[in-house]
Amino acid sequence: MTKWVYSFGDGAAEGRADMKNLLGGKGANLAEMASLGLPVPPGLTITTEVCTYYYDNGHSYPAELEGELDAAIAQIEASVGAKFGDASNPLLVSVRSGARVSMPGMMDTVLNLGLNDETVQGLAANSENPRFAWDSYRRFIQMYSDVVLGVDHYHFEELIDIHKEEKGVDLDTDLDADDWKELAAAFKAKTEEELGKPFPQDVKEQLWGAINAVFGSWRIERAKVYRKLNNIPEEWGTAVNVQAMVFGNMGETSATGVAFTRDPSDGTNEYYGEYLINAQGEDVVAGIRTPQNLTKKARVDAGNDKPSMEESMPEVYGQLADVFEKLEKHYRDMQDIEFTVQRGKLWMLQTRSGKRTAKAALKIAVEMVEEGLIDEKTAVMRVEPASLDQLLHPTLDPDAPRDIYTRGLPASPGAASGKVVFDSDEAEAMAKNGEDVILCRVETSPEDIHGMHAARGILTARGGMTSHAAVVARGMGRACVSGAGQLRIDGKAGVMTCMGREIKAGDIITIDGGSGEVMVGEVKTLQPELSGDFAKLMTWADAHRTLKVRTNADTPNDTSTAREFGAEGIGLCRTEHMFFEGERIVAVRQMILAEDLRGRKEALAKLLPMQRGDFVEIFKIMHGLPVTIRLLDPPLHEFMPREENEFADVADAMGVDAAVLKRRASDLHEFNPMLGHRGCRLGITYPEIYEMQARAIFEAAIEVEGDTGETVVPEIMIPLVATEKELAMLRERVEAVAGEVFAEKGKSVDYLVGTMIELPRAALQAAKIASSADFFSFGTNDLTQTAIGISRDDAGRFLDEYVKKDIFAQDPFVSIDQDGVGELVKLGAERGRSTKENLKLGICGEHGGDPASVEFCHGVGLDYVSCSPFRVPIARLAAAQAALKG
Ligand code: PEP
Ligand code: MG
Repeated sequence: MTKWVYSFGDGAAEGRADMKNLLGGKGANLAEMASLGLPVPPGLTITTEVCTYYYDNGHSYPAELEGELDAAIAQIEASVGAKFGDASNPLLVSVRSGARVSMPGMMDTVLNLGLNDETVQGLAANSENPRFAWDSYRRFIQMYSDVVLGVDHYHFEELIDIHKEEKGVDLDTDLDADDWKELAAAFKAKTEEELGKPFPQDVKEQLWGAINAVFGSWRIERAKVYRKLNNIPEEWGTAVNVQAMVFGNMGETSATGVAFTRDPSDGTNEYYGEYLINAQGEDVVAGIRTPQNLTKKARVDAGNDKPSMEESMPEVYGQLADVFEKLEKHYRDMQDIEFTVQRGKLWMLQTRSGKRTAKAALKIAVEMVEEGLIDEKTAVMRVEPASLDQLLHPTLDPDAPRDIYTRGLPASPGAASGKVVFDSDEAEAMAKNGEDVILCRVETSPEDIHGMHAARGILTARGGMTSHAAVVARGMGRACVSGAGQLRIDGKAGVMTCMGREIKAGDIITIDGGSGEVMVGEVKTLQPELSGDFAKLMTWADAHRTLKVRTNADTPNDTSTAREFGAEGIGLCRTEHMFFEGERIVAVRQMILAEDLRGRKEALAKLLPMQRGDFVEIFKIMHGLPVTIRLLDPPLHEFMPREENEFADVADAMGVDAAVLKRRASDLHEFNPMLGHRGCRLGITYPEIYEMQARAIFEAAIEVEGDTGETVVPEIMIPLVATEKELAMLRERVEAVAGEVFAEKGKSVDYLVGTMIELPRAALQAAKIASSADFFSFGTNDLTQTAIGISRDDAGRFLDEYVKKDIFAQDPFVSIDQDGVGELVKLGAERGRSTKENLKLGICGEHGGDPASVEFCHGVGLDYVSCSPFRVPIARLAAAQAALKG
């Protein structure tokens, strides 16, 4: 029989840390901590299988659930010595959601559940603190109404503000027991007014309401958005945790806090955390009060005058530090912990592997190897390949002048400049138009996820390092400065002010998420240094990967960058990209628009020395590493002149009339240039073009071998091949040019001729095509375009919708469509190798830098992936992880 409910507490648990799929991350780790003998309030976890059942069965529950729940509640009652719903000695519980991975966006928490008009009296009597009891009750009504019943929390905030005004006080702390009692009544009335029925007094009804709300929240819009952004499958579901309440708001000896066993922002091996005295639950995370430091050192470093926990509660702090040590050794990873101190006693509410910046992930992984906690392989698996992107982001040039506007907490590293925007929808809209924006908010909430994602950086006026803004920005790799306390943001009016200086929406600012500085205007940035921990981890990664990593680079500049990032060759040099600038584009246009062979040869003669010069430079930078040069593949529309002056320039160069040229251009017009006269079709119809390129390559290779003494083996690649004949004919041409050049120079070089597989027919005919090819490189951009029949240029208009509607889990141009396009790659590889066992295979579409696609390529048995220079480290790490996963 399926077990639906798992209990924990009193040094024992039915669950374990490795049961995250069933119990969710929070539930599994609460069970583990209880088993380790740590002080965990007793509780129960309703499994994720109940969530699945709930959605599969029209929002109903398994018949046995109620009985199992009652039994588990009875166990909590016995452990605490209180009874759920008992007027004189009530048990109060928290109800929290908990998926396999933490998911902001879902229903988070209801605290103090079990309070009603009767039990609040019992709580008042038992705690000997009526103010605390009534404050707890009104908090419960507020939270429950908001997250379970859907009554917006601002209604309640308003009632508090009115009450304070009537009483003539400013702070919540100025309100006494009677005030909260009155407010609790007003809150209940408000909820009744909004819903047309009274606030539930039956504690079981309250509990089931909260359970329904947790399961219901799995499919609310912002949870879906979060899952989409983080690739979390819909079918995982969430668990529900019900746990005995402990109170951090029982006076000055009580507190609540969150902590990391190491610094999550840079990885330093020091406890890092925040706490609030006399506060409950989510106050720290919500950023409503700015919390105090956990350790004395952090307090001194930050120049804060309020005492750290180490100073104000040294004994409990000592116990907490012991727990940190125990948990890190047990989990062998940095932990993110929530705790509460109730009248001097420490309680652990959560532990999990802490989210961290890429910088911290690297440092922690490398140091844990050095501390003997983990091995090198584990370290390699610990760093998310895509997160390396954060490390490759620019930082502020220390010498650049900066006009500091204000300072906040360094919540997520990276420097970013952009236009100030106060609203998330607007941030998204502006980013879609290609503008860089900095999202500025008093604080962020899960409703802001899309705006944060669209923004270059995030600035908030309130909240600590563990506030929503900080946690989410770190996860997304966005620069973030949080808790800039001197800032007054008036989003409605479109201005923010700091010390009398106004910044309006649309003004440019720069934020440095590494230092917490906010600057007026744009500040110059620098590329990061890749050494130290990064270099160590990459060395370990390289030792474990079998897939080679090359780069797509067309300029000497990109080539140098890629070499610094560890590229082991060039997998794709798009020769048409070498022609985008100045003089060159005119010569290319001249070549395209030439009426006849003579005209084309004239243009080609101008292009030859330019091409040769570039190849010489690139071969020199690559020092004998393989370089794949793709012969011309210009989708014509990208190269046609458009403006009057562009026509005039080309007409000048050709010595013809601009009007004639325009007519020629309109003759060449294509309805579908992506499927038009491009790729090898150009080489078939105008062989002289590819002959010029082959000549430039061979001449450059001979020159560089002569100059450097290093061997150069160019790999010449023919694009957009559909048939074996195309390749065979063009190969012959290339070989003929090689013969000519070698004879002229009295010297030869080794070279390969291969093809791109980027059309479905080519993949299907790979066995035949292989007989004329020394290598294949899968051009998965065009292969995606042609296999799915989605134009690369027009996909933007509707593909978003496809991803939102889950027709594609991800944009197939970003992460390879394994079931469709991937099948063609697999087939092409198998068929190609059936003809030539050692056929060299690579991929050079954009997918070469996407971790999931890299893993796929490893699985298919490709020899290398090739990606843009900045993604080379990502591909190296992803390739190592793919190999280690086996
Ligand atoms: C491809 O099609 O995947 C490819 C790499 O070529 P391009 O993007 O230049 O068409
Ligand atoms: Mg292509």
